[in-house]
Parts: sequence; structure tokens; C-alpha cells
Amino acid sequence: MIPYGRQSISQGDIDAVTRVLNSPWLTQGPVVPQFETSVAAACGAEYAVACNSATSALHLACLALGVGPGDWVWTSPITFVASANCGLYCGAQVDFVDVDPASGNLCPLALADKLVEAAKTGTLPKVIIAVHLCGHSCDMQALAHLTRRYGISLIEDASHGIGGHYKQQAIGSCYYSDITVFSFHPVKIITAAENGMATTNNAALAKTMSQLRSHGITKLSDEMNRPDEGDWYYEQQALGFNYRMTELQGALGLSQLERLTEFVQQRNALAEVYHQRLSQLPLQWVDPLAGSVSARHLQMLRLDDPTLRRALFDRLRGQDIQVHVHYYPVYLQPYYQQLGFMPGHCPNSEDFYRRILTLPLFPDMTTSQQNWVCEALEAALI
Ligand SMILES: *Cc1c(COP(=O)(O)O)cnc(C)c1O
Repeated sequence: MIPYGRQSISQGDIDAVTRVLNSPWLTQGPVVPQFETSVAAACGAEYAVACNSATSALHLACLALGVGPGDWVWTSPITFVASANCGLYCGAQVDFVDVDPASGNLCPLALADKLVEAAKTGTLPKVIIAVHLCGHSCDMQALAHLTRRYGISLIEDASHGIGGHYKQQAIGSCYYSDITVFSFHPVKIITAAENGMATTNNAALAKTMSQLRSHGITKLSDEMNRPDEGDWYYEQQALGFNYRMTELQGALGLSQLERLTEFVQQRNALAEVYHQRLSQLPLQWVDPLAGSVSARHLQMLRLDDPTLRRALFDRLRGQDIQVHVHYYPVYLQPYYQQLGFMPGHCPNSEDFYRRILTLPLFPDMTTSQQNWVCEALEAALI
């Protein structure tokens, strides 16, 4: 089976993890902070907070921005469920903004309209979560223009996006947002086995997220209410979680980060081959914004004729090609339907969903594997 995505593990990665196994620290030691510093430097952000998943990083990001009961969190429907669930974890209500029909990213025009309506009814969101689908940046300038006008916080769900750029800024720089979240799940751009990280330029947000990541506890005496209790004393100041990354995972992530540029180049080169080779087929590519560089997590196409999708998917799967569909609109999930969402809520998202197919793309994909995928698509669609 040719997978749609897969990690690329080097001897350097294996050695880095082995070194930690032979060190005194498996959980909390020097490596995770090094990984945080390196990710922050790679994206030009002041702070980075490592977590045990992007899902937990999204949860902490919402909490740090003050999301709670009575608040609204908005995101787009073409995403993994975690981008919306994080709002529900905080006791907030979640709603969805329709996507741009070509990119599948949150549409600034749809957002502008929805904000006008929400302002009338006093239901403006506290936080908007912009998802960089495929690693292609959202139109952050347009989104930030709107969120700043209304005083709304902006989170980037860049689970697909580390290594990409938008208007000369690395994704994760938080130039347009309050917090950016990355995922290091094995199918993503770099992996730490699981895990995620939040970047920000705001010291207070970084401090809140790192405290909540570890039970709401501080071990720094200058942050304590009772600094004289004794050296054994740690102080719980909020209700937090165990969302920590381990040293083993941090070592893998740090080692993988060294190959980030190489991974992104390999992914873009493979995407270029697909584009050139399959340009005659009745389909459109889901492409990055002009002037931006995508990390190319997913190679997604849109079929001109959505009625072909199911048969094409089944046929390619039957030929050992693990095509995929990213994503079923979140609000059509039974859990969200039971919250009251109806089909038709975001028509562009539903149309986008019906047409899309994700092709295999990962750094170690061989030329013969890619030929096999192209030949199978040509045979099916010409
Ligand atoms: C993978 C993913 C997540 C969740 O990442 P985890 O690290 O698995 O928690 C969130 N949002 C998007 C868009 C994703 O693709």
C-alpha cells in the first residue's frame, strides 16, 4: 500500500532518541526546552510551549485566551475535529465559517458577513481558529484585519503548516495571530511520534499555557504565593492538566527539525510532478496563495465532476493506493448534528468536501510510487 503520508526516520533520529534513553531524564529534562527554543527560532516567534498533542495545545491556547462558558469560538468546517472540539472543552459554543471554494481555507468574505450578523445579536466570537489546510496559509492579512477590528483573538491551527511561509513570515511567527499551533503526529511535516507545540509572542499567554500544561503548578518561587514553604514545595494556582511532552519525543522532534527545509523541498518537488504530469485531467489542484510557500502536508485535488469521487476513491484503494479525503465537514458529524447543526450550514464547504481527494505525498515517496499513482489516475479519468 502506498500511504497518503508517512514519517521519514533517519539514523540521526534513532541516535537522538537512544541518547535520551541512556540519559537520567525520560520525561522532563533539557531536550524539550531545546526543542521549544529551536521551533521558536525557526518560526521567528518569542515563545514556544511543547504539548503532548496539537489537540492539547489548541485546548491550552483557547484557555489562555480566556475562552469559557458563554463564549463563542469559530473555525472552518474543512478540518480535523480537534480544531472545533477545543472550544467545546472550554465550555464555549462553537460555530463554523464557510470556506473559500478553491482553497478550502476559512473565507475572509464569509467571515466579514458573519461578523456583521453576530455583532447585531451580541454573539461575536472570542476566538477564531484559522486552519492552514494542506499547509497552505489562510489569507492571514485579511483575517487579522477583521479580527483586530472586532477585538477578537486569532489562533492559527498550523498542524499541517510548519516550514511554510506567508508574506515573508514563517508560519508560526504569529505576526498576524495570537497563538499558532503545530502537530507532530507522524503523518505531519515533522514528527515527535505524537505531540504538538504552540508559539506566541505574548509572554503572559506563554506562561499560562506552560502552567496549565502541567497541572496548573509552578515551581518558581518568585511566582508563588507562599515562597518560604521550603524547597520541596510546588504550588498549584489553577486547574491544569498533564499535557507534557516527554524527553524521548522532544529528542525525536528536535532531530527531525534539522530536516524541515529538506522535507518541505521534497514535498514541493513531488507536488510539482503531480501538477505537471496530470495537468490534462478534469480536475483542479488545491493550491497555495500566490507569494506564499506551503509545507505541502496534503496533495489535494478537486474533481470537476463530484459524482466520480466515490468510484475513483474505491478504484485507487483497490490498486493499493491509500488516497484519502480531508475532511468530512465537522458540523455534519453526528456529535455536532446533535448540537443542532443542519446540512447546508456552510454550502461551499459541503461542495468542496464532495469533490476532494488527497493523493499520497511524503518525503520518502519514490519515483516509481508516484508513477504508479499518476498512471492509476490517468487510467481512471481519461
Ligand atoms: C492533526 C491535526 C490536529 C490534531 O493534531 P494531534 O497532534 O493529533 O492532536 C488538529 N488540527 C488539524 C488541522 C490536524 O490536521
